[in-house]
Amino acid sequence: MKFGGTSVGDGSRMKHVAELAKEYRDSGNEVVLVTSALSGVTDALLKYAKEASETGKTSSIKEFIADLTKQHHRAAHDAIDGTKNGKKIAEVVTGELDSRIEELEKALIGICYLGELTVRSIDYISSYGERLAAPILCGSLNSIGIRSRSFTGGEAGIITSEEYGNARPLDITYSLVKERIEPMLKDGIPVITGFIGESEAGIITTLGRGGSDFSASIIGAALKADEIWLWKEVHGILTTDPRIVPEARTIPVISYIEAMELSYFGAKVLHPRTIEPAIKHGIPVRVKNTFDPSSPGTIIVKDLKQSKDIVKAVTVIRNVALINISGAWMVGTIGVAARVFTTLANAGVNIIMISQGSSEANISLVVDESHLDKAVKGIKAEFKNGIIKDVTQDRNICVVAVVGAGMANTPGVAGRVFGALGKARVNVIIISQGSSQHNISFAVSGDDAAKAVQVLHREFGLDGEK
Ligand code: ADP
Ligand code: ASP
Ligand code: MG
Repeated sequence: MKFGGTSVGDGSRMKHVAELAKEYRDSGNEVVLVTSALSGVTDALLKYAKEASETGKTSSIKEFIADLTKQHHRAAHDAIDGTKNGKKIAEVVTGELDSRIEELEKALIGICYLGELTVRSIDYISSYGERLAAPILCGSLNSIGIRSRSFTGGEAGIITSEEYGNARPLDITYSLVKERIEPMLKDGIPVITGFIGESEAGIITTLGRGGSDFSASIIGAALKADEIWLWKEVHGILTTDPRIVPEARTIPVISYIEAMELSYFGAKVLHPRTIEPAIKHGIPVRVKNTFDPSSPGTIIVKDLKQSKDIVKAVTVIRNVALINISGAWMVGTIGVAARVFTTLANAGVNIIMISQGSSEANISLVVDESHLDKAVKGIKAEFKNGIIKDVTQDRNICVVAVVGAGMANTPGVAGRVFGALGKARVNVIIISQGSSQHNISFAVSGDDAAKAVQVLHREFGLDGEK
């Protein structure tokens, strides 16, 4: 069971989480908890690390550390009662938190002096959110009579590549986690930090933002769990982002493939790699609401249930940008596309969408916005005295996708998608449909994204109106 940041947002919520876990254990299950950082903490850590490297102001670091200490001490006191071996559990936990916070402070002050923030240091700093949350949850379990121990991802056996910020678990992870965690299940509930792992050399890595979903799935797969449960503050996977369409409904059952596509196409509810480890052993993944535990949530399963819904959900990817490459000389010149893609790969650019019309006079690409500058610079350098005349860019872009396995072999879905958008006067910039036919995605101006989502949500009856 993984609990997200809002679910462990403060001490009283952590207590609720400990009680929920106890309830499931008391009814005959073996439970492992994976925790996120308290809500907002990862963002704050990243913000202050950046500020430290840019301004070098140690005074603001000291203020931040004082606030962080206060927040976690308060959570510990609210989540934990009771004594163990004659000592107040909350005091033991806050002592542990203080020594971690002291390390964090030293690291941030170090960054102030160095004026440098590497990807490796970002992972190290951002790991503290989860590393401060886990001991509190563990103490809370202890205080209601459950044996527990807290582990960092690395201690639990999550050993990863050294791709900081987006590390992947190495194969050894699965046997190590089993060896280290399984023996604990009979007697208690281990608490493991989500989001973080460790390289083979013992350096802290992270699995990418929102990565605690992925941690839970890795651990569930290693233990061959019966189910992997992701507890959040929403009722499950919804037909679209509820911040865009408040009438979005919970999807009761969805397939692995659909859930993967949803997360690839921007539904923030799942880390994009969450499903991969679950697929290996066919483990069902549930998404449930921490604040309404009796509601069934969404279950993600292997087999496609034939449902009458052709489209299951609509998603949006923000923070992307469009690059347009054009020049009449490109027509018929062999190898232009290869050079563009090689250049972008060498520059480490993530390409989200590609389009080349048969006139061949231009190639359009959608990339991560944070990669735009290096992408444009790379292309201009590669073609500096040649066939490409113009490279233009647009930052105000979103990619919208409709997802549903029922779309495969159902004629007319694309017609409905673009017909509805046309009627609503939404201008479509690039279109893509993979041959899997489980999604249709397209790029629109950022100003039109919410409208596009709302129109398609209604068109496919996802609000329950049709
Ligand atoms: P947690 O960190 O607790 O696991 P997240 O904040 O990462 O949870 O994900 C849940 C959030 O994702 C919701 O609050 C919601 O705003 C957003 N969201 C976006 N698209 C969807 C969707 N299709 N279904 C559910 N939530 C979505
Ligand atoms: N705390 C991390 C983040 O905010 C990981 C997670 O919550 O899943 O990205
Ligand atoms: Mg998340």
